[in-house]
Parts: sequence; structure tokens; C-alpha cells
Amino acid sequence: MREIIHVQVGQCGNQIGWKFWETICQEHGINPDGQYEGDNELQLERIGVYFTEATGARYVPRAVLVDLEQGVMDSIRGSKMGKLFKPDTMVYGQSGAGNNWAKGHYTEGAELIENVMEVIRKESENCDCLQGFQISHSLGGGTGSGLGTLLLSRIREEHPDRMIATFSVVPSPKVSDTVVEPYNATLSVHQLVENADEVMCIDNEALYRISTNTLNIPNPSYPDLNHLVSSVMSGITSTLRFPGQLNSDLRKLAVNLIPFPRLHFFLIGFAPLTRRDAIGYTALSVPELTQQMFSPKNMMAAADPSLGKYLTASAMFRGRIPTKEIDDNMLSLQNKYQGQFIEWIPNNIKSTICDIPPKGHKISVTFIGNSTSIQELFKRIEGQFTKMYRRRAFVHWYLGEGMDESEFAESQNNMKDLVKEYQQYQDATLDDVFGEEDEQDEVDSQEEVQSGQEQVSGDDDDDAQVDDDGEDDD
Ligand code: GDP
Repeated sequence: MREIIHVQVGQCGNQIGWKFWETICQEHGINPDGQYEGDNELQLERIGVYFTEATGARYVPRAVLVDLEQGVMDSIRGSKMGKLFKPDTMVYGQSGAGNNWAKGHYTEGAELIENVMEVIRKESENCDCLQGFQISHSLGGGTGSGLGTLLLSRIREEHPDRMIATFSVVPSPKVSDTVVEPYNATLSVHQLVENADEVMCIDNEALYRISTNTLNIPNPSYPDLNHLVSSVMSGITSTLRFPGQLNSDLRKLAVNLIPFPRLHFFLIGFAPLTRRDAIGYTALSVPELTQQMFSPKNMMAAADPSLGKYLTASAMFRGRIPTKEIDDNMLSLQNKYQGQFIEWIPNNIKSTICDIPPKGHKISVTFIGNSTSIQELFKRIEGQFTKMYRRRAFVHWYLGEGMDESEFAESQNNMKDLVKEYQQYQDATLDDVFGEEDEQDEVDSQEEVQSGQEQVSGDDDDDAQVDDDGEDDD
């Protein structure tokens, strides 16, 4: 079994993580005592990816819960799902991080990190063939962002060949009024660029907009927002948890979606969107579902994909839908929106289907796009960062924890570079990318035809294209 270890860090990380476990337990027929009560053998076929089977046929989440204060941990323990988690996988301190990334990363967090790594080590020793990790956290606070990214770099160090995916909640002033969030987010993005393989961007700005505009919830609460988060976390992981072929592990997902290593920040969409008090009331047709999935209104990041280009994308359908119906709808969608897909990566949208629908829906779809429009999100954070950093406002709080000021400038530059890279690929045309090689191709292919090695040489040409682009970047 290719196991995944889930790590949830900080208030937001633990709240969305808790909701994730509640949702997937329902989908796999696991009750709050860890006992299987399902009715479909597909629920158990790949249960080992996220659960360990303990004595007494009890399924235990392969989860590590981390925080620098006790509050959220106590509410998880006191909830109806409280007994599900193994008590010694909950690691917490008492001091808090006070929304200060440097406390989470360098001081308070650094004191707790060895305890967390010890628990992660034990969990990984119990795996047959660990495929990787997923981390849920927010980027705006101190613990999930500071300690979360410290954990990310330590896991990367100890498991350089395993995949690491993150569910990262991007801050928005519409949802939170802590002024230093752009600092914490920028310092975190710097780390995510370097150490994460796949980042699912969950933007509170978009969750707020979906809640108020589409779902008519005037003052959405965190449970309202987290209902949306749990839909996408369950949707994205459905291909990892249920039998299927495409995108069946974290590495395959990455190979299909990431043409350039730094560009691993995904735009996530979901359909149908529902309020948490109204699930079970919507029934969409497959064409409606496909249209909605692709609408900017259904994206969980405040970035309009129609203003950028998709490098790659993947649609994960759930429910009993004939494959042909999905293929037909995807094809007409691609034809309709051809201009939104980068022309120099052929077949860059894939679809998968999982028979088991999420609770309360007959059919649903989750969309993962590697869209150059995600730069909007980084530009927004960078704009807020720069306004404060120009006057060095609040910087003393970070320096007081022993952080070097150069880390601010480095993080800012890394994020600016990322924006430039997205823009560069957005602007690249087929001619820019292949122009020079095309002429060479013609020469090569004549030789290949003679030697009968078209396929092999074709692959070589692809590599050359990627390498050339890398040099252009520099
Ligand atoms: P930490 O415990 O120090 O990591 O701090 P938090 O996780 O509370 O980080 C604050 C950021 O997370 C702010 O941007 C909040 O809006 C956001 N946040 C906190 N809790 C939740 C939650 O349950 N759901 C969502 N979507 N965002 C949250």
C-alpha cells in the first residue's frame, strides 16, 4: 500500500484537517470509533493510504496534529470524532505563536519540532511503502505558516525522495484582520516554492466571495468556509483513496500537472457548490457540472483563469457517470475554451472518474488547474507586503525572534520571480518555444526516418525544449 502521512498544523490547519477526516471517514464508512460500517467494498480497497488498521479491526487516521497552543486540540478531542485519533500523535505547546512567523519557524516552533519529527518518524516506520506527506495549514498566522514550513523543510530533509503536497490557506483581509498576514504569507511562499512538490492554494478571499455571492451567506463563519475546503480536499484526494488509474498517487498527479518545477501552485475548482445546510438538494446534469467546474466563480482562489493560460489541468469526476459522457463534455469544453490552454503542451487536460460520490451529491467534480493566472494571488499578497515593508513596519517583531532581515527581501524577490515566470510562460507562443528547435527538428526527423528512431528522438527534443526554457529564465 502506498501510504500518505497527513500533518495538520496551527488553528486553521487543524480545523480544516479535522473536517477533512470527518468527510473521508463518512466516505469510507468509518464511524467515530474507527469501526467500518460501510456497504461497498470499494470503501476498503485503498483504505490503507490514509488509515492504519489497529487491533480490533479499528481504523486509525495516519495523522499528526500539531499546534503551539492547546485550544483547538482540546476541541478536537472533545468532538464526536475525538476518539478517532491516536492520542500520542497530538503534539502541542502552550506558548502560541502570536501570528508571528518567526516565532513558529525559529523560536517557539523550533522547541517543539523534534517532538513532532519523532512522531512522524514512528508513523513512517509503520508504513510499507510511504508515498509521501500532505500538510494542512494557513499561511497567514504564526504556527501553521512558520512551524508548518519548518516542518516542511525538515520532512524534505529526512525524506528527500517522497512527495510533499500542501493544502495552504491564503489570507484575506475580508476574513481576518491581522495586519502582518502578508509578511507571514510571503515568508511561507518562499519556503513552499523551494520545498513543496504540490501546493493546493485555498484562498480565503475566494471562499468568502463564493459564500457571500454564490451561496448567499452574508457573514460566513469558518465552518461555512471549511465546508468548501473539505469538498475540495475530499475531491482532490478521491483518486488517491479509491481505486482508479489516472492520478492514483501524489507523484503521478505531479508528473501530469507540473511542467516546470517551481510552478507547482494549483488553482482548485469544485462543482456543485452548496451551503453546508443545503447539501442533498442540488442535482446537476453532466454538461452543467462541467461548465460550472470551469467557471471563475467556482475557483477557490481569487484569480480569473480566463485572464491567464492553463499549462495543464485535471478534472476529477465522482459518481456514476458514463465515461463517454465525460469525454464528450470535456472535449466540447476544450474546444470552446481553446484559447485558455497553452498551445505548446498537447493533451494538457485529463479527466478521472471515481464511482463513489461525495456525501449529499449524486455527482460532483473537482478541478485542479496549473494556471498562470495564479500569479494574481501572489501579486495581491506582494502588494500588501510591499506597502508595509517599505517603511519596515512591524519588522522588529520578527527580528526580535532572531530572524535576519535579509529573509524578508529574499522572500519578496522569490515571489516576484515566481510572478515573472508565470507571466513568461503565459506569453510564450508555440513559435517562441519551438521556433529554433523546429528547424533543427526537420533536420533530425529526416535522419530519424532513415534510422527508424522517431520516438526516441522525439523525447529528446522535448527535453531540449525544457532545458532551453530554463536557461531563458536565468
Ligand atoms: P496559527 O494557529 O498561528 O497557524 O494561526 P491561524 O491558523 O489562525 O492563522 C490565521 C489565518 O488563518 C488567517 O488568515 C485566518 O483567516 C485563517 N484561518 C484561521 N482559522 C481558519 C479556518 O478554520 N478556516 C479558514 N478557511 N481559515 C482560517
